[in-house]
Amino acid sequence: MTSDAASAPPDPTAEVVDLCRDLLRIDTTNTGDNATSAGERVAAEYVAEKLAEVGVESRIHESAPGRANLVARIPGADPGRDALLVHGHLDVVPADADEWSVHPFSGELRDGYLWGRGAIDMKDFDAMVLAVVRNWQRTGVRPARDIVLAFTADEEAGSDYGAHYLVQHHRDAFDGCTEAIGEVGGFSYTVDDSQRLYLIETAEKGIDWLRLHAKGRPGHGSMVHDDNAVTALAEAVARIGRHRFPVVVTDTVRAFLEEVSDLLGVELDPEDPETAIAKLGPIANIIGATIRNTANPTRLAAGYKDNVIPGRATATIDCRSLPGQSELLEQQLRELVGPDIAIEYVHRQPALETTFDGDLVEAMSAALRAEDPGARPVPYMLSGGTDAKAFSQLGIRCFGFAPLRLPPDLNFSGLFHGIDERVPVDGLQFGVRVLDRFLRNC
Ligand SMILES: [Zn+2]
Repeated sequence: MTSDAASAPPDPTAEVVDLCRDLLRIDTTNTGDNATSAGERVAAEYVAEKLAEVGVESRIHESAPGRANLVARIPGADPGRDALLVHGHLDVVPADADEWSVHPFSGELRDGYLWGRGAIDMKDFDAMVLAVVRNWQRTGVRPARDIVLAFTADEEAGSDYGAHYLVQHHRDAFDGCTEAIGEVGGFSYTVDDSQRLYLIETAEKGIDWLRLHAKGRPGHGSMVHDDNAVTALAEAVARIGRHRFPVVVTDTVRAFLEEVSDLLGVELDPEDPETAIAKLGPIANIIGATIRNTANPTRLAAGYKDNVIPGRATATIDCRSLPGQSELLEQQLRELVGPDIAIEYVHRQPALETTFDGDLVEAMSAALRAEDPGARPVPYMLSGGTDAKAFSQLGIRCFGFAPLRLPPDLNFSGLFHGIDERVPVDGLQFGVRVLDRFLRNC
């Protein structure tokens, strides 16, 4: 090795692969149980070390033993400007190794992909951010304004030990932050060889998880009985599960559908957006869920013996509301279940929606176009929720922008929480280049 090669800083597009693989090898499974979530601390310490190596100080805040959240601030050239928050979660959902082609925590490099739980949700982005910041520090780059980094715990179980904890107990870490970027946006959807949509998340549905409680008269399973809690609950659950809520096209979804219809040459009927959505392939699952409120029964519980009619039965319904529709959805559900079934909210987070305009959106779009001349950035609404729900409580305008160029045949949405989760290495490297351009100048 020559002395020149020894002193040249590592290329961030090469380093991102190592960083992502290292993170994938740390098992940060979030089971929802604090006793088994120790990996988050290991991952946060790894991030702290990678930042410290290049002179960035960070702080780890534990919300409970092992539930570690890391925050750092990169000073910008103009301290008078508002700061940008860049956030990524470190936890992942569980993975059953028996179902996978590779071990889910191996970080294996195979067929041009890095494989592992978290490869797209969202250790890929965590690694990109680290690669960009480490390169800046080594080469003396200063971003235009302060950038606050947050690497969080517990996103996969509602963020109570992660982003919500930071917002409640360490809000000073986010002083001056007015805008944020995080997960589930900035990925490509291939239209044809020359054109790709890049879906930038500007809206998220609300989370309305609720429990239905039915009461009846307990009794013997052999006798005539007309007040059975299980029967009443089952009827209510079936009514909800079969119900289709009315179509409501929000500004975000309309902007998305207009762009898609134009590109695909599909006539967009505002009364029937589903025809256009059906042409989208796998991402229709996400987009189709953003034109109406949804309610999916997920859990049932009743009884303790085969021949005893229980006095109570409960069910959990995973409801997702469109912006401004949470109260209306509650009314609709009350009508569906009737007066005898009680509804208890177990988790409720509002929907988010911002506009697709302004300097930050311009900077995202410009960075994408610079790296992919066929890029067509579009706003979209995520059917799920992210840490943006917590950070928006600080008045921060949140976007999903974790840029990733994907091969046309990859079922990206199917990889979220799915088997054989993996990220294309060239897509990851594309993401580093886009993020670098965007974060430097935005
Ligand atoms: Zn995620």
